[in-house]
Amino acid sequence: MEKQYAVIGLGRFGSSLSKELMRLGYEVLGIDRNEERADDMNEYLTHTVVADCTDEDVLRSLGIRNFDCVVVAIGNDIQASIMTAIVLKDFGVKSVVAKAMTELHGKVLQKIGVDRVIYPERDMGIRVAHQLASPNLLDYIELSKDYTIAELSVPKHLCGHSLSDLNPRGKYGCSVVAINKKQNEQVIIAPSAQDVLEEGDLMVVIGVNENIERLEQEMVN
Ligand code: ATP
Repeated sequence: MEKQYAVIGLGRFGSSLSKELMRLGYEVLGIDRNEERADDMNEYLTHTVVADCTDEDVLRSLGIRNFDCVVVAIGNDIQASIMTAIVLKDFGVKSVVAKAMTELHGKVLQKIGVDRVIYPERDMGIRVAHQLASPNLLDYIELSKDYTIAELSVPKHLCGHSLSDLNPRGKYGCSVVAINKKQNEQVIIAPSAQDVLEEGDLMVVIGVNENIERLEQEMVN
């Protein structure tokens, strides 16, 4: 059976998240204590309900424990966010995801046993800062506190050069794990030193954070 999601709080974050889950083919119950917010989302979601989710009886009557994943997308009202999360974990919901506004809010959610705490504003701020500082950086994943995988577009001044010319491992301690060739839309996995970079190519590199940042700078210059 399809995974079923419930999203509590249909502000900008909750509504964007729930619409995208629908687009991906899942069933989504959207809940908000504000009638207008719930009504606005009615046409996009499987069901919407107007309810205050800090009320245990309300959550019980919605059968919330049967959902595979419940997202608490309440931010500003920290008390409501925490109370809702506690009730959900008490009910034994398998996967509770909650949005945190501050580090402290996040810590409390973690202590309650929330399975995944997300910081959308903080994380998006960091992501955009990286992309502004390094226009060639298209995307990145932090594998751990120290290691990152980054997707970089190859700048003009490196076109026509081979990987051995760029020497990312020797000069920056970064390994190129793939090159996405624009020309024939092929992906070269584990490219060799002879592979040549061309305009429009994308490089996927892995390395220690500082080394990736040094490589990003080289790509800008
Ligand atoms: P966003 O940043 O996602 O736009 P916001 O700034 O509009 O959020 P938040 O305080 O994060 O506001 O609340 C998100 C939504 O959660 C609001 O639509 C609000 O009505 C709803 N909400 C807040 N508390 C509860 C609650 N106890 N039960 C149900 N919905 C709630």
